[in-house]
Amino acid sequence: MDTIVMKFGGSSVADNDKLKIVAKKVIDMYDKGNNIVVILSAQGKTTDKLINEASQIIEENTKIDAEQMPNSEIFREMDMLLSSGEQISISKLSILLNKMGYKSISLTGWQAGILTDNVNQNAIIKNIDTTRILQELEKRKIVIIAGFQGYNENLDITTLGRGGSDTSAIAIAAALKAKECYIFSDVDGVYTTDPNKIPEAKKIPALSYNEMMEISSEGAKVLHNRCAEIGDKFKIPIITKSTFNNKAGTIITDIIEENTIKSIVKKDISRISVIGNGVIRNYDFIKNLLDIIQKNKLEMLEFNVSESKISVDFKGIVNDKILEEMHNIIIK
Ligand code: ASP
Ligand code: MG
Repeated sequence: MDTIVMKFGGSSVADNDKLKIVAKKVIDMYDKGNNIVVILSAQGKTTDKLINEASQIIEENTKIDAEQMPNSEIFREMDMLLSSGEQISISKLSILLNKMGYKSISLTGWQAGILTDNVNQNAIIKNIDTTRILQELEKRKIVIIAGFQGYNENLDITTLGRGGSDTSAIAIAAALKAKECYIFSDVDGVYTTDPNKIPEAKKIPALSYNEMMEISSEGAKVLHNRCAEIGDKFKIPIITKSTFNNKAGTIITDIIEENTIKSIVKKDISRISVIGNGVIRNYDFIKNLLDIIQKNKLEMLEFNVSESKISVDFKGIVNDKILEEMHNIIIK
């Protein structure tokens, strides 16, 4: 029997109606005869809301000369607080699945055996003891695990950094030797550039782990930064898809070197990166890019090239109009 990991982001579990859509997708995959492990984020903007509430307490109660709680202890309490968001979504989905006639069980990070280092708010997973997960799968239960959280050697709760549920999902997929790891969200894949800024952006059907890592490291918020890296290390295919339609998503896997340019990412206001295996040998593209730079009288501060990425830091702001011009040469 294959094991499939399915991760759903915050907007996919935002309310009861959306949870029903998620439940149906999970049941569909389970009924095909797979072992199913589901990883969830907190519902909607829960994590932001909790952070804001805690910040208010901190700001309103800071006495200058009183002895303050050290930052490390505040971080510990923040993890205790923020991890509660995911406990709400996993328990709700499990209640729903049980009511729909499917055996399921929700597990927190520590119940699922996710051991991390001691860095509160930005922990790294060290090991996953899969005993409990396997026991539950053995009973044919759908196992629903809280994303974003683990525990450390002191038995304190830790979190993996904002957006960390993607990393929880791929790490659990690796530990279980899953066949594939789905990342469901409200977008249906990875795009050639940010579709919110450039309407002509196109969905990329397939990316290599390496290209995805470069895209994440340039600040595109598609996948948590360590997700593709772990996928690569353990060779687990990652499939990003929409929860709300059945369109093909983007598959991130080992693809044999090819010379197409995949994506252009703007980081901050003045750094542009172009990603694609072999980009460095695509002389036509490089020439076109330099033409646009010259035409727009952009001043380059730094130009970095590697096998799969060209990054340019400019002096001043690169506006979306210029980004669009550059994007046009990669999609044509
Ligand atoms: N709930 C956490 C966050 O909002 C983790 C996640 O969504 O992946 O950052
Ligand atoms: Mg997220």
